[in-house]
Amino acid sequence: MTKTFISADWVIPMAGPDFAIADGAVLFEDDRITAIGKAADMAMQKEGADRVMALRGHAVMPGLVNTHTHVAGALTKAMTEDVSGFGGAFKVALPMHEHYVRKEDVYLPGLLHAVEMLRTGTTTINECWWHQPEPAKVIRDSGIRGVVGAEVREMDTGQVGFGRFERNWDRAMADAGIDEALDLLENWHGKANGRITVRVAPDGPDRCTPRLLIQLKEMADKYDVGLHAHTASVPGEAEFMLHTYGKRTIPFLHELGLLSPRYIGAHCAFVDDDEIALMAETGMCMSHTAYLVAKRGYYPPMEKIYKAGVSVSLGSDWLSNDMWKVMRAAALIPRVLSGDVGIRSGRDVLEMATIGGARCLGMADSIGSLEVGKKADIIAIDMRQAWYHPYRDENLAANLVFNSNAGDVRHVFVDGVHVVSDGRMVSIDEEKLIEEARAVARGVWERSAPLFAR
Ligand SMILES: [Zn+2]
Repeated sequence: MTKTFISADWVIPMAGPDFAIADGAVLFEDDRITAIGKAADMAMQKEGADRVMALRGHAVMPGLVNTHTHVAGALTKAMTEDVSGFGGAFKVALPMHEHYVRKEDVYLPGLLHAVEMLRTGTTTINECWWHQPEPAKVIRDSGIRGVVGAEVREMDTGQVGFGRFERNWDRAMADAGIDEALDLLENWHGKANGRITVRVAPDGPDRCTPRLLIQLKEMADKYDVGLHAHTASVPGEAEFMLHTYGKRTIPFLHELGLLSPRYIGAHCAFVDDDEIALMAETGMCMSHTAYLVAKRGYYPPMEKIYKAGVSVSLGSDWLSNDMWKVMRAAALIPRVLSGDVGIRSGRDVLEMATIGGARCLGMADSIGSLEVGKKADIIAIDMRQAWYHPYRDENLAANLVFNSNAGDVRHVFVDGVHVVSDGRMVSIDEEKLIEEARAVARGVWERSAPLFAR
């Protein structure tokens, strides 16, 4: 057993009434936290530790939880942000992934995406994509904690787009996705000392038939796992649902029996008042992809969503996976839209990005806060930087959320394992990986040339 004792200027447990413990410390034994408190009261624990880290000027807190991402998105980085007219996702990203990205293209860029997440302080991701089990291997090999789902779709998603009401349903595609989902459930759930768990992931209600959605819900029930799906996620989805089923996304999913606290809906950007009420009533969780949707020029009606009491966590989706950017977008953009600075505080978004995410994933008993008995998923932020100072101790949460740079995350532990040390990956050569991932991506982009020509 390895005992690790970390002391820091601030220990932020994200549990209990006080935001931070000044001159605090945390002790963990292998993967579990065994003590937390004032460093001065923990001299005995320090004595018996195998590894002692005195992090002067640092804040130590639970790792961030990203409740919606795709590591394969590394292949699309910065490619779609400035494409107007909803074109980024519909004309570039989805057709590229559907027609030009092969299974063997996913691992190395995906690993780089995972490195980005770890280096910026994320310790748990909720991941879904095609080409499983490559993303599951990324989670295994990067050292991050991950919930993984095989995204099951029943159509070429290159056909999704605003005003497109036709669907060429392709049952063979659904069957291939179901095979990948079953492989994950049978062979990956609970793997890597429990770091990897599995969900069932319908791509979205506009990309699966009702029959498939029901089948996937039954699969989730059989294996006693949750669901994770794009939900009210793109412009035109509500119109498609109304045209095809005579109802919008949320009531449609509710009538099929999918919505519950074990359902995570990514984006929920296009929901009306009745849908918001239903989201709250069913207890489903929303993964609010604040930074991503803002890039696309739309935003969920967060003022109403918070007021209704919907369970909200934060997700990056892809492109950038820096949760500090997501937190800032979640704090700032609704203020602009509502004219109300009080809608979300720095502390609120920190909670959404830690214990809130853990709750959404049904993992609040093991991650999301620093408490005795929980997993040692811990990050340390070096605050000895000009951009934090001077500050009042009372404003620590706002200082972290509004003034930090993601690179200030200097140490990351996942499951008690030191994954990032002094800002560098411990077991991955980042420079080499960047070169390898770039080589794979160049191949994909060469094959994708027709998409960029139009
Ligand atoms: Zn997504």
